[in-house]
Amino acid sequence: MMDGYTRCCGLIGCPVEHTLSPVIHNFLAGEKKENLVYVPFHVSEGLVGDAVKGAYALNILGCNVTVPYKSEVLPYLKELDPLAARIGAVNTLVRTEGGFKGYNTDMPGLYRAMLEDAVAIRDEQVIILGAGGVARAVAFLMVEKGASRVVILNRTVQKAHMIAEEVNSFCGRKIAEAKPLTQYHELEGNGRFLTIQATSVGMYPYEDSVVMEEEAFYNLVHTGYDLIFNPSCTRFMRLTMEHGGRAFNGAKMLLYQGIIAYELWTGKKIEQDLAEVTFQKMLAAM
Ligand code: NAP
Repeated sequence: MMDGYTRCCGLIGCPVEHTLSPVIHNFLAGEKKENLVYVPFHVSEGLVGDAVKGAYALNILGCNVTVPYKSEVLPYLKELDPLAARIGAVNTLVRTEGGFKGYNTDMPGLYRAMLEDAVAIRDEQVIILGAGGVARAVAFLMVEKGASRVVILNRTVQKAHMIAEEVNSFCGRKIAEAKPLTQYHELEGNGRFLTIQATSVGMYPYEDSVVMEEEAFYNLVHTGYDLIFNPSCTRFMRLTMEHGGRAFNGAKMLLYQGIIAYELWTGKKIEQDLAEVTFQKMLAAM
């Protein structure tokens, strides 16, 4: 039941029509008896500043931010959480006195998902496929959580080099390196890697695509973590499993980035059993 006290949260992005965030947040609000509604806001190119100002003027409690505005939104925020500042991208805005504060819950969301899936990072050699916004954040997460080596493979190798340089300068030592996708065979003979698939290749409706076509690559992968959640089993995951590795998709990352955002907006903790029920609701809505 909505009434005069109902608070509103929403998603700023373009497109937003296929989002699962309303399923997560409206379910949580119902279960926690919070008088809150969550709606998608389709924001056209060039209007993200107006959207943030308008959301504040309309007393919106908080927003998620998705493609393509995760970095573009930064100048319109009053404050930035230190993790979001380091990553250079936000996916969550929290209402504060005088403006919104920006957070990145994607990375803590991914970390919580990996913990739950029993995927270790400490002392692991890691391959990151991709060098976009999410891959950059993943590279920082991997070094912060103790990976021993991070190899970023990307179609546009210059972008991978930029991330590797930033990560190395952050750590003060050479832990990250960059290569074009085609040079993965230089990694052979070094054991197997935790591999994070952070490109958009293989997403619905292009589920037959995979960023790394060459099957020999998958002999390097002991665990393949695809950040894509639709389809639930990507070709990258299938190839990983066919070569003896464990494989996971990005659905739990999506769940936990949402749960962490919800906790920031409402100040209420989401218990693990409620997180699990929410996950089932989310999967059913896919
Ligand atoms: P982005 O900044 O647009 O980066 C896309 C990446 O994919 C780039 O590295 C790009 O390579 C690569 N790529 C795209 N098409 C390619 C192709 N045909 N061949 C080879 N490489 C290609 O995207 P992003 O924001 O980092 O997001 C990446 C993916 O992460 C999303 O598509 C989504 O599936 C996933 N994601 C999941 C969650 C979750 O909660 N599970 C949250 C956020 C994102 P170039 O640099 O060469 O262009």
